[in-house]
Amino acid sequence: MIPGRPDDAAPSPVEPRGPAEEPAHAPEPLLELENVHAAYGRFRALFGVSFSVQRRSVVALLGPNGAGKSTVARVATGLVPVTSGQVRFDGRDVTDLRTDRRTRLGISYAPEGRSVFATLTVEENLALPVRREHGRAATAAALEKAYHAFPQLASHRHQRAGTLSGGEQRMLSLASVLVEPPQLLVVDELSLGLAPVVIDAVFHTLAEIRDAGTSLLIVEQHVDRALSLADHVVLLNKGEVVRQGPVEELRAHATSLPGL
Ligand code: ATP
Repeated sequence: MIPGRPDDAAPSPVEPRGPAEEPAHAPEPLLELENVHAAYGRFRALFGVSFSVQRRSVVALLGPNGAGKSTVARVATGLVPVTSGQVRFDGRDVTDLRTDRRTRLGISYAPEGRSVFATLTVEENLALPVRREHGRAATAAALEKAYHAFPQLASHRHQRAGTLSGGEQRMLSLASVLVEPPQLLVVDELSLGLAPVVIDAVFHTLAEIRDAGTSLLIVEQHVDRALSLADHVVLLNKGEVVRQGPVEELRAHATSLPGL
């Protein structure tokens, strides 16, 4: 059968449509980068990067220091503009959309989560977006979920988010994603500098967010942890994609990269 063939395509009179001709569900890309170039002033950081993140899948973006991983994450979220190429989200060209517009379409960025406001308390940060979207009745369950994932946040629930430690702010950022999951979560070195027990909680939460249907694009220094979550790997070096494919094919390459 022809993928994407419309349902109403006229069936051949001699070959009646049977179950084998039901439309197949081909993987649908949620995020696509096509031939993306990006620069910081005169310094060119990305050279023709192309890959996609399918719906309900996890892509680990790996490579040595300075390879351009964070730049790709920033390009996906709109924090760094492309100099050429295209970024598509859900089939729509978002190349020139600002970060806040992309957030509204369903792209979230952690650690700088969409709803962490420095002057609001931890609890207000978690409750406000849930109350806005689902009403007051939904907030208690959302708070319980967030505090269950990160008990440390519960003991700071009345503290202003801006006065939390860096690690706690990252927990809050991720907890706010957990209670109101986006379509795509871009995760850039979320575990940096966190205690191992907190890193465990972070990855447990990322798995929960994935299981709830969110696609993930992950930049992570703990390669084994990233691979444990990913189905697809994109290896970058010097601003270019050097390999990409399913995690089972690229595990050996990913773990033997210089600088990792
Ligand atoms: P790391 O693993 O060390 O964080 P990375 O793969 O995430 O590295 P990027 O942070 O994307 O790499 O950096 C890619 C290149 O762009 C590097 O050479 C870096 O020095 C440069 N770069 C990154 N941010 C800036 C900036 N704000 N201004 C100028 N150059 C930058």
